[in-house]
Amino acid sequence: MKWWWKLRTEPHHLWVEVVSSLHNLKSKPDDIYSKKTLTGVWNNIVGIRKALVKKGIPVSSVISKQPTTNGVTWRCGITSTRTYMVRDLRQRWDYKPLVADGQFCWLKEVPLKVNCFIWRAKMGRISVASELAKIGVLLEVLTCPMCNESEEGSDHVLVDSTYARSVLEGV
Ligand SMILES: [Zn+2]
Repeated sequence: MKWWWKLRTEPHHLWVEVVSSLHNLKSKPDDIYSKKTLTGVWNNIVGIRKALVKKGIPVSSVISKQPTTNGVTWRCGITSTRTYMVRDLRQRWDYKPLVADGQFCWLKEVPLKVNCFIWRAKMGRISVASELAKIGVLLEVLTCPMCNESEEGSDHVLVDSTYARSVLEGV
């Protein structure tokens, strides 16, 4: 991913020039990073796209183009600085749900709509940034607007964020 970022943000780098012309990228859409017919190191690098998608990390969330007044700039949607950092992708990659997976039980004591909401949250079906990104909704940023530190995922919003914690502590 580091190389993808370099490819887009340092167009005059010698290595970038070589890859770009080899794969004929200059005339291609931005989500094209390689020529399929070529093999070699660069194609292996580009191949991680599949692994990322499998992990629920669309490439567009890591690197995306932003129009500016004087051209375009590239932005990273998973870091608070908007510049790609290996550490942040690593974190995202290693991310595991905080709430233990188990059988979901419907509690009669709890109102139906609350049960429904928790069930949906557990299935990743509430409209938080990370879930929307997975289904292809293009978002400006994926970070939580409350803290700007983590990605806005179900677990973060409901369990892990400072706000959620303060609510839990107040109960
Ligand atoms: Zn937050």
